[in-house]
Amino acid sequence: MSEVAVSLQRVDPRRPLVLDIRELHRGAGSMRTLRRTVPAPADLRVEMVGVADGAPIDLDLRLESVVEGVFVSGSVSAELTGECGRCLGPLQRPLTVDVGELFAYPDSATEQTTDETEIRRIDGDRLDLEPALRDAVVLALPLTPLCRDECAGLCSGCGQRWDELPADHRHEILDPRWAVLAERVAGTALEPGTGPTVADTCTEGEIGPGTGTGTGAETGTG
Ligand SMILES: [Zn+2]
Ligand SMILES: [Zn+2]
Repeated sequence: MSEVAVSLQRVDPRRPLVLDIRELHRGAGSMRTLRRTVPAPADLRVEMVGVADGAPIDLDLRLESVVEGVFVSGSVSAELTGECGRCLGPLQRPLTVDVGELFAYPDSATEQTTDETEIRRIDGDRLDLEPALRDAVVLALPLTPLCRDECAGLCSGCGQRWDELPADHRHEILDPRWAVLAERVAGTALEPGTGPTVADTCTEGEIGPGTGTGTGAETGTG
């Protein structure tokens, strides 16, 4: 008796994602809907993106009594904030994920035959939705979050965001060899007759990138 009493206290009813299921009659068939906005639990995020602590999470759920427990399904919506993986700018996007989770009664066959890590449990008159919600949201977080799908990222020349650069933005990046040629050609234009002698001034060994890194090691496979 006292053991049961202790287990009933495991779930803190004051936590916003702990749902009271007293209105739901035990036994298959009973159902109720639940629409509620709750503050996001802490650390609902991965590295670059997530739901800010305390940000509103909209629950639109259906709680159904099934033989073994309560099946919770529906959707969870929140706003993601973080950093764009492409342009490193601030990110703010809506996220909606579907949830579908069985919570087993403590004395059900499911409770006897499964582990708590596989099938979640009902604690007395309550079930704690937070772990299920956390799993669903974190799984849905994008690996490379984008501020918008068409985010153009950063200019490789100057590191500025393409979205903030004029459409004709570009960099005159010349290969050193072309730079020498350009100078010579410019000189030619001014002084016709002193034609460029590229071979004299632009030797491969001087300008080309180092070619001394042997690749022999890579061919030795097998
Ligand atoms: Zn971006
Ligand atoms: Zn640039």
